[in-house]
Amino acid sequence: MAIKIYNTMTRQKEEFKPINEGEVKMYACGPTVYNYFHIGNARTFIVFDTVRRYLEYRGYKVKFIQNFTDIDDKMIKKANEEGVTVKDIAEKYIQEYYKDADNLKIKRATQNPRATEYINEIIEFVKDLVDKGYAYVVDGDVYFDTTKFKEYGKLSHQSIEDLEAGARIEVDERKRNPMDFALWKAKKEGEPAWDSPWGPGRPGWHIECSTMACTLLGETIDIHGGGADLIFPHHENEIAQSEARNGKPFANYWMHVAYLNVNNQKMSKSLNNFFTAREILEKYDAEVIRLFMLSGHYRNPINFSLDLLDQAKSALERLYNAVAHLEHVIEVSEDRELKDEEVEFYNRLDSFKEKYIEAMDDDFNTADAISIIFDLVREVNTNIKETSAKKLAQKALNLIRELGGPLGILEKSTKVSLDEEIERLIEERQKARKEKNYALADKIREQLKEMGIILEDTPQGVRWRRI
Ligand code: AMP
Ligand code: ZN
Repeated sequence: MAIKIYNTMTRQKEEFKPINEGEVKMYACGPTVYNYFHIGNARTFIVFDTVRRYLEYRGYKVKFIQNFTDIDDKMIKKANEEGVTVKDIAEKYIQEYYKDADNLKIKRATQNPRATEYINEIIEFVKDLVDKGYAYVVDGDVYFDTTKFKEYGKLSHQSIEDLEAGARIEVDERKRNPMDFALWKAKKEGEPAWDSPWGPGRPGWHIECSTMACTLLGETIDIHGGGADLIFPHHENEIAQSEARNGKPFANYWMHVAYLNVNNQKMSKSLNNFFTAREILEKYDAEVIRLFMLSGHYRNPINFSLDLLDQAKSALERLYNAVAHLEHVIEVSEDRELKDEEVEFYNRLDSFKEKYIEAMDDDFNTADAISIIFDLVREVNTNIKETSAKKLAQKALNLIRELGGPLGILEKSTKVSLDEEIERLIEERQKARKEKNYALADKIREQLKEMGIILEDTPQGVRWRRI
């Protein structure tokens, strides 16, 4: 059985065949780092994290690149507003990105290249396009001539005539054709700039992704992705630039994540209808957020509401109750061979894994995968008891955790850590002493001693150490 991926380019599910066996070259467009990211952006990041985790689970070595756009109009505007440099803004929000993404349990990409670190490569790329006649220079700007790339529009399934007719593009005297776009922008007053053969300037947005994908992964990559808003013009333009220059397909599979909406409108900074991921993380655990995001298929829009997050929270609790139940059974159950009546369920556990893989292989159907985990949990609750064989409970627990892995859920232990338990007992003892309940305080000290913990009263408060 092979993995199938819905390819925006062909509008159908296709069998996934990587260029190099056992290896995946994957690029996803990352954030423009001028603000905290919102929970809509988080959907796209979590989906690609899940795709990456699942491909790894299926044995592929994944090289995953996600860029930071650290130079563009929004970055410049923000820097001017705050009276700092564009680099300061980038530095700050890249660190903030990592904080939030780590808290959402998004695995770090293999590399997070920044546009400003690839200026030389970008200039080389643009130079090649000018030399090959795909781009033209106007007073220090460089534009891509979309009429020269015959397949322009193939990703978004529009002809260039339709695009031109439908475009409400301001008339720009400098451009030869309405759909042409900037590869290089001449410096304007107060903007950061780099030297180039066309004078000081900065790269356009689209060219950074073509350049970094090509430099870090090669001329043809396996998977390229982003949110659905990037299909046109961003990815269309990336294709035009890359294929015009390299004469090869840019990416074999194009994946796009549907919007996270608020009242059926895309969550976005410009509509001011957003929650930052950070705000939501203050109220909800990362695993709750991930379960909510992954409960729908990534190609269907989802509506955001706190009610739905609350539902995800109780759903996750149900799963963790089963984990807690199994952890308890493992502690108290007998380490013995399976009884005849246990063999059937022990073997049947494998079928849940098969169904899960079938669902995830089918274009990463996390919605079905999650309902399979719930089926598993329901059966575990009825079939496994304190009197069950330890190895049965252990197999079920391992399986639940294994299936949670690609989704980034069910990774926590339900047991309070020993240190937390010790701190709690010490606090309880302090309280008892304050209330002059010395009998209780002494009892807790004894209990801690039995756990191998010695208490020392110091002027700074109570310290503890292990015997
Ligand atoms: P940006 O920082 O706006 O370039 O967005 C970073 C990533 O988030 C891109 O892949 C966008 O397509 C994606 N994105 C932006 N808004 C949403 C949304 N409401 N739902 C899902 N993905 C989004
Ligand atoms: Zn991009």
